[in-house]
Amino acid sequence: MSTSNIKKRQHDNDKEQEEDQQLIITTKAQKKQKKKQPEEQLPPALERLQTIFSRLNTFCAFCDARLLTVLTWSRIQSSVTDVNLTDLAAINVILPDFITFTLQEEQEELTIEFGKLISKRVAREKQSTALQNKGDEWEYSKYTNKSNIKPDQIKKTVDTRNHRFQQALRKFVLSCRKQGLDPETHLAKELKQHIPEQANEHVVAEEDLGPDHEKFSEERSMHEIINQMQVQKFYRGQLVNGECHRRFPEKVARFGELTPPIHQEIEHTLKEKGITQLYTHQTEAINGLRNNNQHVIVATSTASGKSLIYQIPVLEKLLQDKASRAMYIFPTKALAQDQMRALQEFIQYSPLLKDIKISTFDGDTPSDQRMHIRSTANVIFTNPDMLHHSILPNAKQWHWFLTSLKFVVVDELHIYNGLFGTNVAFIMRRLRRLCDYFGNDSIQFISCSATIKHPDKHMKLVFGVNNVKLVDEDGAPCGKKEFVVWNPPLLKQSDPHSDRRGAVAEAADLLEYLLSNNIRTIAFCKVRKTCEMLMKQLRESLEKQNKLNMLKKVMSYRGGYMPHERRRIERQMFSGDLLGVVATNALELGVDIGSLDAVLMVGMPWSTSAMWQQSGRAGRRNNDSLAMVITDHNPMDQYYAHHPTELFEKQLDDIQFQVEDNVLVLESHLQCAAEELPIDIEKDQVYFGLRLKEVCENYLVPIGDNKYRPHPRFRPYPAQFVNIRNITEEIYTVIDVTSNRNIVLEEIEASRAAFEIYEGAIFIHQGKPYLVEELNVEKRYAKVHLTRVDWTTQQRDYTNVNALSTSMSKSIGSTKNRWNTVSYGKVQIETIVFGYYKIDKRNRIMDSLEVYMDPFIRESTGIWADVSSSALNRLDQLDIDKMASIHAAAHVLISLLPSFTSSTSVDVRTECKSPHATRARPPRIALYETQPSGIIRQAYQFFTELVTMSVEQIQNCDCENGCPSCVHLASCSEHNVLCSKLGALVILGSLLEMDVEKIGKDDKDETVL
Ligand SMILES: [Zn+2]
Ligand SMILES: [Zn+2]
Repeated sequence: MSTSNIKKRQHDNDKEQEEDQQLIITTKAQKKQKKKQPEEQLPPALERLQTIFSRLNTFCAFCDARLLTVLTWSRIQSSVTDVNLTDLAAINVILPDFITFTLQEEQEELTIEFGKLISKRVAREKQSTALQNKGDEWEYSKYTNKSNIKPDQIKKTVDTRNHRFQQALRKFVLSCRKQGLDPETHLAKELKQHIPEQANEHVVAEEDLGPDHEKFSEERSMHEIINQMQVQKFYRGQLVNGECHRRFPEKVARFGELTPPIHQEIEHTLKEKGITQLYTHQTEAINGLRNNNQHVIVATSTASGKSLIYQIPVLEKLLQDKASRAMYIFPTKALAQDQMRALQEFIQYSPLLKDIKISTFDGDTPSDQRMHIRSTANVIFTNPDMLHHSILPNAKQWHWFLTSLKFVVVDELHIYNGLFGTNVAFIMRRLRRLCDYFGNDSIQFISCSATIKHPDKHMKLVFGVNNVKLVDEDGAPCGKKEFVVWNPPLLKQSDPHSDRRGAVAEAADLLEYLLSNNIRTIAFCKVRKTCEMLMKQLRESLEKQNKLNMLKKVMSYRGGYMPHERRRIERQMFSGDLLGVVATNALELGVDIGSLDAVLMVGMPWSTSAMWQQSGRAGRRNNDSLAMVITDHNPMDQYYAHHPTELFEKQLDDIQFQVEDNVLVLESHLQCAAEELPIDIEKDQVYFGLRLKEVCENYLVPIGDNKYRPHPRFRPYPAQFVNIRNITEEIYTVIDVTSNRNIVLEEIEASRAAFEIYEGAIFIHQGKPYLVEELNVEKRYAKVHLTRVDWTTQQRDYTNVNALSTSMSKSIGSTKNRWNTVSYGKVQIETIVFGYYKIDKRNRIMDSLEVYMDPFIRESTGIWADVSSSALNRLDQLDIDKMASIHAAAHVLISLLPSFTSSTSVDVRTECKSPHATRARPPRIALYETQPSGIIRQAYQFFTELVTMSVEQIQNCDCENGCPSCVHLASCSEHNVLCSKLGALVILGSLLEMDVEKIGKDDKDETVL
């Protein structure tokens, strides 16, 4: 059982301990009696009941001990396999009133007290404490790990209760036999009156989940669910492509051996957690760490128990040597805290490990506690930012810690790519260098990663180490997985070029269907707006049908939400209070939200790795799971909708980034490293590569003896000048002022503000519409209030992309001239929002309004290519609008970009042209990135291939004037009104030096493409 997502509170708990003592004393007498009873085989139903009881017992005992929260029926169901209400009733037949049911106030949720020897008073107190703690004001002691009740005491309670129940079961059987009754039939008859009334009501209430509502169980396979989908009203041939459904077979567990065997204390602790055997990937990794001093990278599925791979060696080392240290690095604070709780929970089972000090060390750690942590913590949980800004610059104070550091665990290694990856790679090199200096050259790195192409290569790159062992053969069991590509139907069935129904509308139907079948589902959306629109559609549909219970069980989750709201949703998902979540990739990281049955991907994920990673979120150990990609109507998605096999067999993306050759980043980290310890050209080349000397000579200050100090302008604290995540954007705060509430709803980057919070806009949060009543650009906030409207807004704006300075340029074709050159450099993006449309539910414009706002001006990186005069002439001859042609050409480039980069079509934008625009613009294709991501740099690198592929895409599309498979882009802010397919071909063709005169030549009524 893992309870890592549920926070606990340091709380005086003596009363409860007394109660448990009482329980133990009372039952000692009974234990003695048991020996006198003859052993007898139980009938199967009772045997099963005994198992259920024991699972329930363990779960409830831990919840009790930790004051976790109120114990509810849905929470029990989500954590105890196979249990149903009849089982609880049956337990009450065997042990009268052992389980107490109450209806929780205001929430039609059944609360359960397990074990009647806990007095009502304590139960009440416990409940109120738990309820008070439902917010995020949890006080959580980071520096101690005292549990409320000692683990051995919990164990005793569990054992005693189990004994009691076993004894009662035997007594029940004996008494039945005496009366000549069949125990199973008798139990079935008796238990009816023990089914709680509230529970009956509760069951009835759940009926409004829909006619299809039925507990999803192993008997009802995912295959059947998919078959059932095809008789629903929303089914219109979405699965007609024969290749669109693939089944991945079940995998059985494979177990391995540790040599030498695992330390007894840890073996014991694992047993307490119900782990008696380790999977092959776990043993292989641990053996590599223990026996060969290798660094290890593990790339296996989400729920394969990867964390044990670092917990076991770290704890074994600590058992041998209490002075040893370990550092766990996670990309986010939330993940670090999540994992710290998991480790805390783990060591609480073990008396020998109990006094190990573990602690988070992040931006929230008060400065007066930092010294204490440095000197006493055995294990710290931190992030790359803290290492960069705090630990390494203060290395002298961390001297002891770094000297004794044995393991550095870096989870979610695939996150470290691009510019962020390069920065982290240098931070790791700085760490290794300092440890070496302190005489510690035996650090081992342990990493976990999602499935990527060459995880070991990636690990070597990030840490700059060699001896790396790759473990990617997953030994964990896994149920059958059904993978489906769902292509939304054409709006006009007779016209193959008509638009398709939106992926969001399809996803809303599917999600509702899955939830009503009680299937725990996550829907991944690529952008926030999709996420909120999906939540909104689902909300409206459920409200209309009065399925409010079901609505309560689903929430949206995304980046802009406040951290405490995100933590709350994660907890509710984990505990089983939620059945579904609509999320952006903010949930892609390994935050534990429990196991899921189904994953919907709304639109093709931006990379193959992301697709497998997201689909890996579904799958309980032995149950079937379902993953569905709902394709959008852009060319990429449609391509895979028609060739699903290629999608299933597509190679994983290779994560590539430069470390030592990225001179710019190298220089900034050398400034930091030189402050930490003067750079020694000879010694330090092993960390910083062959360009060390050159960069030091050019940018640092020599102090003789081949040594260097940072340039004075960086001193005394160079790290503050080095921004490792490249987040510099300003933030707007959205304040909910409904009924004078004045609470912060979420935060929005300045680049999105122009589009989301102009005055009059409908801003959607948790699928609920809010009206923006005031935007204050100076103070960077917007005031919104909850409203009930059935329309949304779509801003009317134009964006000018102006090239500011060229960093590089290159020729696209074989010859070099000014007409086939692509340039890369700095661009200015000027967005003017001048009005908005009110859009009704069916996406029709109801009204057009004006707004007056100052332009938003930003800088970004872009690429641009000028249109040749021959292409412009040809467009004139053909009487095609130039802007329509440039617009269409840019669209195709953007839509095919994900083939070369890990991007979405919203990461990269262009000037979308409106037929009403009167401003003069240069004839130039310009693309830019919305956030500094390096995507445009990659686009520049592959520009020739991109243009070639775009020309083929247009030529191969048999539509007449452009369609979503060629020049129309779903994200076009001007709805693809001014787009010319033929014009795009002229422009892109001329870049490749095709003979433009031949393009568009009429063969009477046939256009040559
Ligand atoms: Zn087309
Ligand atoms: Zn457009």
